[in-house]
Amino acid sequence: MIIAIDGPSGAGKSTIAKAVAKKLGFSCLDTGAMYRAVAWQALQNHVALDDAEGLGNIARTYEIDFEAAPGDPIPRRVFIGGVEVTDAIRTLEMDKAVSPVSATVSVREALVEQQRRIGNAGNYVIEGRDIGTVVFPDAELKIFMTASDEERAHRRVRQNVDRGVGSMDYDEVLADLQRRDDYDSNRAASPLRPAEDAVMFDTTGLYIEEVIVRICDMANEILKRR
Ligand code: C5P
Repeated sequence: MIIAIDGPSGAGKSTIAKAVAKKLGFSCLDTGAMYRAVAWQALQNHVALDDAEGLGNIARTYEIDFEAAPGDPIPRRVFIGGVEVTDAIRTLEMDKAVSPVSATVSVREALVEQQRRIGNAGNYVIEGRDIGTVVFPDAELKIFMTASDEERAHRRVRQNVDRGVGSMDYDEVLADLQRRDDYDSNRAASPLRPAEDAVMFDTTGLYIEEVIVRICDMANEILKRR
């Protein structure tokens, strides 16, 4: 079974996807980390962010891996070409670099193929922007998660403080979220939008735990009906 969780940056997708996966005993895939890893590699290799061929080559040739710490079923470490980039892909520089990379068709083709291969191997919660619309349009449960801009910026600042990486300045984070949403929603390739059959969740003012329980209930209902 695939549970697709899509939505803009900072809507709570990552935290919720990981918690839902843990509760249901599913695996979890963060597709945003894959786009970030390709962007990181492009900067390392001095490939320009408008060089579609160069970016596509990176996405096709570099292996992206996720690893879990011992005793933790959820993978939280990210590697590209064998190099760990878990923290390096969360900087403000990477927030900016990832938009043009993820708008590049050849990059999306390569990463979507990998995402389908991974997801088809078992029960997965997959989070991103186009999971319910493009990557797994037949997913049995699709969630589209939103929250107010202000709440998303506050959450992202708190997350950056906890991780010790990325901007901790509220105005800077808010401006970046709005810029990325605009870019992701208006690009030609797989723009950010809810699937027609997605369940919409506005998480503004909701306890994360409440959302997790509701998604798990919906998933268990589907599993029971099978
Ligand atoms: O989820 P996260 O904020 O880490 O994603 C980083 C960027 O990757 C997004 O701003 C978006 O441009 C891109 N992305 C995408 N499609 C996905 C997941 C992420 O275009 N499925």
